[in-house]
Amino acid sequence: METCKRGKKDSCGVFGICNSKHDVVGNIYYGLMSLQHRGQESSGISTLKNGKISSRKVWGLVSQNLKPKLWRLSGHIGIGHVRYSTTGTSTLANAQPMTYNGFSLAHNGNLSNYMHVRRKMENQGFKLKANSDAEVMLRLFSSYWEKYGDYVEAFREMSGQIEGGYSLVILTKNRELIAARDPLGLRPLCQGEGGSTAFASESVALDSNNMKLVGDVKPGTIVVATENSCDERRYLPCRRKAHCMFEYVYFSRVDSVLEGRSVYDVRFNLGVNLAKTYDIKPDVVVPVPDTSRTAAEGYSSQTGVSVAEGLIKNRYVHRTFIMPQQRDRESAMKLKLNPLKSVVTGREVLVIDDSIVRGTTSKAIIHMIRRAGAKKVHMMSTCPPIISPCFYGIDIATYNELIAARMDVENIKRKIEADSLSYQTHEGLVEAIGLPKEDLCLACLRGEYPTPYAQRILDAVKEKAQTGSVRLWEAEISA
Ligand code: AMP
Ligand code: SF4
Repeated sequence: METCKRGKKDSCGVFGICNSKHDVVGNIYYGLMSLQHRGQESSGISTLKNGKISSRKVWGLVSQNLKPKLWRLSGHIGIGHVRYSTTGTSTLANAQPMTYNGFSLAHNGNLSNYMHVRRKMENQGFKLKANSDAEVMLRLFSSYWEKYGDYVEAFREMSGQIEGGYSLVILTKNRELIAARDPLGLRPLCQGEGGSTAFASESVALDSNNMKLVGDVKPGTIVVATENSCDERRYLPCRRKAHCMFEYVYFSRVDSVLEGRSVYDVRFNLGVNLAKTYDIKPDVVVPVPDTSRTAAEGYSSQTGVSVAEGLIKNRYVHRTFIMPQQRDRESAMKLKLNPLKSVVTGREVLVIDDSIVRGTTSKAIIHMIRRAGAKKVHMMSTCPPIISPCFYGIDIATYNELIAARMDVENIKRKIEADSLSYQTHEGLVEAIGLPKEDLCLACLRGEYPTPYAQRILDAVKEKAQTGSVRLWEAEISA
């Protein structure tokens, strides 16, 4: 068995829309602008006009780089994509949507058995051009469609081959828009109405189009929308759900609603729960902008300790993680945040961040707040310790790089040089999200994966880690 290569992991945002009356390019553009936080490396749009699929794909931001390319694109039906990836696959060949045989596909997620499926397909004679699980799914879907002539059957067959998180929008040359979600519902995908039918990774993309959220695409189902109809079909029974907890904690925008749960409410509750669990008495609560502001509000509402913007963010520096190299991330951190002396000097400061992954961000923040004159610096994470990698589409580092995989809380506290360090409990997290525990993916917190191949990768990775050999997530492992 081989692990996925880190180089091909991507986490993304997708949007698809069809309308019987007007052109949808502007809607897709607005949708992608609202999903820009999900990926800034490349973006693209495909539309259908006169039976022909046309695409534009570019490096970089939707407003700067994609917009100038859109003036000749039109159609009543189309899809769009924003993407970030990690080292190794920064090539436009991997940008989406990808088009083949009358289908154009945009994908958010990650196949845990990507390398395995890819090898198998290559052995069967498939000529694959990119290094991308979107291409693997597009080609498999297309070949099963040719075999069965039925979308449900094509998805059923494909889902038997692949494992992982995938939320897809597919444009067909037959004037259909297909939305599909993996059988566990790992990655989000919602549906909206309002003169058009649309599907989006997050409901904010519907808001910006003045559309109403009607619900989430159910795990293991496809929805086929045309200009006049919308038909939901199940391709696999949903035995259990596994919605990604990290979408609530960090990845999604705070004004989105996922599975009926407002991300704002969840983050507020995360702050409340931290306040209920730990007895720290700071003078001021400082959120790490932007994600943690809501949790700081929650903490403050419970304790009465005031929140202040003690860290000022340079708004032109994007999410630090969304950069290919560690070195880039570190220098971006210094560019990104600056402590406000008038807030922190001479005070006992509680810093709240959404998560601690490698620990480099927390360490740098604590250091800069101390240098700005704080008496003490306490650290809280709204997310419990992340002890295991994600194989389902969130780039949260290799096993070796995860600080909580290597150290206990006391040692992490020392390493990041905090006066105290408190993590959310698992119970606090689940309670804040408000969905049944069995409906959530908590794999990166527990090391127990909801799919068998991912579990086998992890077990193999751990075994190798004990021998202390190589960088593991990148390595190909035989198990
Ligand atoms: P670190 O502990 O230095 O690895 O980074 C933790 C910080 O990165 C937190 O402030 C999070 O807001 C942010 N973060 C966590 N996960 C991700 C991710 N998958 N992509 C981008 N940023 C992330
Ligand atoms: Fe989300 Fe963690 Fe599960 Fe990945 S492993 S899908 S980040 S909860």
